[in-house]
Amino acid sequence: MNKITIAIDGFSSTGKSTVAKQLAKKLNYVYVDSGAMYRAVTFYAMQNGLISDNDFNSEALIYQLSNINISFKYNKALGFAEVYLNDINIEKQIRTLEVSSFVSQVAAISEVRLKLVEQQKKMGRDKGVIMDGRDIGTVVFPAAELKLFMIASAQTRAERRFQELIERGDKVEYKEVLNNVQERDYLDSNREDSPLVKAEDAIEIDNSNMTLDEQFNKILQLVKMTIEDCE
Ligand code: C5P
Repeated sequence: MNKITIAIDGFSSTGKSTVAKQLAKKLNYVYVDSGAMYRAVTFYAMQNGLISDNDFNSEALIYQLSNINISFKYNKALGFAEVYLNDINIEKQIRTLEVSSFVSQVAAISEVRLKLVEQQKKMGRDKGVIMDGRDIGTVVFPAAELKLFMIASAQTRAERRFQELIERGDKVEYKEVLNNVQERDYLDSNREDSPLVKAEDAIEIDNSNMTLDEQFNKILQLVKMTIEDCE
């Protein structure tokens, strides 16, 4: 069967990674979480004193970019690849609200994007890849055979993210999670370099009122149709 490239973009917490992981398992494709890479760079900046409450030394981060090596290693028990920063597993550390609150500033830096997009393109060279993010269908894989653009109301998304954080044991308020989701939507959609926009040929999926099963079946149907069209 022909292998295709699947690009999934959309606002924060629209369930992109959930469906991407389900599809990767079903199709035996590689799933790449591009947001984890921007989070890893943000985590590096925080660890190295480049980010504090009211200051972000973007010049120093650009200068130190060559010290940042991001990789993924498949974790069989979890069923997806975890992210490593300079060979240290940081999958858990990058999911905090603190990282979420700085990541969109880091992701707006062109030098950061250039480095990560180059690596993402390489990961997709052999097709059979599902990548989720904000610019996958527009910048990383503009020729992807299937592009999805996921949307859901801000409240639905904040509730989902809030539940995830609470289940991890993080102490967060719903209100601050909602604020973060809305702030990231704004920053990601309004930055100059590779803003979050729906690719012209992307199919929009509004999952506000869909169960996970309904969403998965609908998207799997689209994948099957796309693969048939390519044969
Ligand atoms: O997908 P996730 O919410 O983990 O992404 C974290 C942040 O990384 C986004 O809010 C966005 O600022 C940035 N990002 C990006 N381009 C991508 C993926 C993520 O700018 N392809």
